[in-house]
Amino acid sequence: MSIRANDRSYDCDVVIIGGGVNGTGLARDLSLRGLRTLLVERNDLAFGASGNSSGMIHGGPRYLTTHPSVTRSSCEDSGNIQRIAPHMIFRVPFVWPIYGQSFFDRLRFEAYDAFFAVYDQYQPLKRGKRHARLTPDEALKVVPGLVSDKLLGAMTFDEWGINGARLCNANALDAREHGGSVLLHTSVEKVLIEDGVATGVRVRDRLTGETRDISARAVVNATGAWSPITAGFAGLEGRVKVRPGKGVHLMLDRPITDVAVMCEAIDGRSIFIEPWENTSLIGTTDDDTYANLDALPVTSDEVRYLVQGIERVLPRVREARIIGTTVGARPTLYAWGKLEDALSREHEVLDHARDGVKNLWSMIGGKLASYRQFAEEAADLVAPALGVGARCTTHTAPLPGGDAIVDVETLAARFDISHYAALRLVGRHGTRAERVLAEGGKAGRLVACTTEPVLAAEVRYVVTHEGARTLQDVARRTNLAYGPCGGAECALTAALIAGELLGWSAAEVRAQAIDLIMARKRSRLPAIGTAQARSELVIDATLRGLGAVA
Ligand SMILES: Cc1cc2nc3c(=O)[nH]c(=O)nc-3n(C[C@H](O)[C@H](O)[C@H](O)COP(=O)(O)OP(=O)(O)OC[C@H]3O[C@@H](n4cnc5c(N)ncnc54)[C@H](O)[C@@H]3O)c2cc1C
Repeated sequence: MSIRANDRSYDCDVVIIGGGVNGTGLARDLSLRGLRTLLVERNDLAFGASGNSSGMIHGGPRYLTTHPSVTRSSCEDSGNIQRIAPHMIFRVPFVWPIYGQSFFDRLRFEAYDAFFAVYDQYQPLKRGKRHARLTPDEALKVVPGLVSDKLLGAMTFDEWGINGARLCNANALDAREHGGSVLLHTSVEKVLIEDGVATGVRVRDRLTGETRDISARAVVNATGAWSPITAGFAGLEGRVKVRPGKGVHLMLDRPITDVAVMCEAIDGRSIFIEPWENTSLIGTTDDDTYANLDALPVTSDEVRYLVQGIERVLPRVREARIIGTTVGARPTLYAWGKLEDALSREHEVLDHARDGVKNLWSMIGGKLASYRQFAEEAADLVAPALGVGARCTTHTAPLPGGDAIVDVETLAARFDISHYAALRLVGRHGTRAERVLAEGGKAGRLVACTTEPVLAAEVRYVVTHEGARTLQDVARRTNLAYGPCGGAECALTAALIAGELLGWSAAEVRAQAIDLIMARKRSRLPAIGTAQARSELVIDATLRGLGAVA
């Protein structure tokens, strides 16, 4: 079957399966090159690894000795992402305390110094600062509360953070604004193939149950850890292999330090605690997983493992409350026999012409930090195959909201909102914050979630402009209910606002609020121990059965 350029008899040029950072990044890249893209996401944008990562747009110093190419590409793309999305990124200075007084410990300290001196060479690629050696006194000043016993000193290094969910949304929004379409809560169930050429997909809307076929000139599988399953929908069982690595984070109710602190867990793995807006993030685990990727479990053992590791250097971590956990599966490239941490974080585009299906590709592996480059590499294969010679522009064209730096104070004064609300809004939407507020009108300035804070206008905006279809979608885009109240204060108010736009009945508004509060609750339960959590759930259910309100 021959492929004709600009053939309007197809519903779109390229179907991209998966709304993580790689799928949304590719949708944006191809849309900017003039192709008609359709992104299909089974859950919500950033539902998978991309919305549950550590959010480091970093160079990955940990890959420096094993995969220096990953460090270089991550640093390069970190520099690009900073240019196109300046509103989303924030500096994360790391402190790595080194303990012990033996000759070997001193040698280790010198080795770390030498290691970070090499990493310094990559820092200019991402506007990073050079590392510094800290004396014990200096380290204790920078990180008050750090265990001082046998502290030899500390190393610093410099990284950048980003909100993965916002990054996916910005890419998808830009794809839409350049002629692309996005279907959320819609699962690809089959890749349509005619005469050895991929010609579209069969999709099912998981909220309405509606099934339909969509024709396309090419299909890309960008489903991360799900990609072997998706390849099976094209009859390519066993042709795409990844080794999903489950990673868990804990979110605390307060910042414990002003800087991120690295330390070792009981098994010698590096873990960290970092300040994240008005909370702290502790991460992460890395374990092979064979679980259902749509419902990855977090166990109380994983919570204990992370808290135990941090407590050894920062005992006051115990004073904080765990207000949530996150979990995602890294789509790590397949290898047998290696420990999870040692697996390559490189990426690959597989052309399934080698398996007898033309115009079908799979994107596997990679990192949040190098998503743009990965998308560019994939688009460089897909676009020419469809007769389009346009070059990539995603490294220079700003993402929506990233075209200028917003003065938060002026915005707050102009719309009569708090500095804090304006700051968060600008962090999520950049220059689009003004549009969010202008379209929301006076009623939009109502604070829908006090702990975060999220304005009614933003709830409306993510429904009307970012395709949110459920209250959990709204929360993923805005941080609503991710604070200490876990949705108890805001879920119903937000459901009423979203429901007005989405045509929800009163019963649906209530169901959406319950869904969000339950999801937040489930994410906290491992923190109180699985057995205790199970018992509390049974008691809750019994109380409800007896007619208790609370
Ligand atoms: C705990 C953790 C920490 C990490 N930390 C970092 C970090 O700090 N820095 C960094 O650079 N990288 C980090 N990573 C790695 C990074 O997050 C991933 O490499 C990246 O997000 C993968 O993106 P993706 O789009 O390929 O996959 P995903 O984000 O997982 O997206 C795949 C999507 O496909 C959808 N899907 C699946 N099946 C179907 C179907 N049949 N139809 C439609 N849609 C479907 C899923 O719902 C999902 O949304 C981390 C990963 C984890 C898990």
